[in-house]
Amino acid sequence: MEKPQTVKECIRYGASWLERRGVDEAAVVAELLAARLLKCKRMELHRFAESRPQQRILDALGRGLRRVAAGEPVQYVLGEWDFRELTLRVDKRALIPRPETEQLVDLVLKKLQSSLLPKPLVVDLGTGSGCIILSVAKAVEEGIFVGLDISDQALSLARENAKLNALEHKVYFARSDGCGEFDPGSVDILVSNPPYIPSAVVDRLDTRIRDHEPRLALDGGSDGLDLYRNLIFDAVMVVKPGGSVFFEIGDDQGAQVSTLLDEFGFIDVQLYKDYGGKDRFAAAVQSF
Ligand code: GLN
Repeated sequence: MEKPQTVKECIRYGASWLERRGVDEAAVVAELLAARLLKCKRMELHRFAESRPQQRILDALGRGLRRVAAGEPVQYVLGEWDFRELTLRVDKRALIPRPETEQLVDLVLKKLQSSLLPKPLVVDLGTGSGCIILSVAKAVEEGIFVGLDISDQALSLARENAKLNALEHKVYFARSDGCGEFDPGSVDILVSNPPYIPSAVVDRLDTRIRDHEPRLALDGGSDGLDLYRNLIFDAVMVVKPGGSVFFEIGDDQGAQVSTLLDEFGFIDVQLYKDYGGKDRFAAAVQSF
């Protein structure tokens, strides 16, 4: 292929270069990198299609392509990723927000809208990048929004994301691996996307995930359910009677997580599917 001149040619060249190195969705990746460097949305790239990029853009595109070819997730190379209405900084300090987790936020918001609580206390345990609690806080006018994580690194990223989205005065982040700090029966909603992949499965994950994203955010112990056991125990203590829990779950964990919730006396235990049709969320209500 001749040396690419225009943005369109560079993207095509970059995409085929990635494809030859076995990168999935190579065209999308090349477009995302180009859009980031040209400071536009991917869908706006056509505006630049025939223009000739400056050398520094070409160099940066080359660096980005090489990082993706070497196995890094494109989201980390871009350094930012959209989640619902927020643009979040993403890097190896926390898990990359997944699209299905946007639906977990929908479930929480629906509950908050229907329950009309004046100033709900919403707690996100294992907040990571902060994507869930920041999205909830953005959508709900009044409330107390808390994101907890055991990882100081994740918390530093979540705090940066709060600032970037002008939510730093609305969301509190603190280091904790549980909800022990809250008064009994004080929490209206406990939400979590905990690590839920069984340890042995983490070892076999795609290297793009396994070698780059924090294992702490993925590994749910031998059966993947360790964190639910802790979460549900915490929830029994701190969630108000009539308050709710919402968890993201592995697609084969619905029955086990429902049983755990049942065993701890939660009512209205429900499973919800993601857009791929797989069980992905569990919700329940603390009994009165
Ligand atoms: N859904 C994520 C994945 O498949 C896992 C997230 C998690 O363990 N909470 O990579």
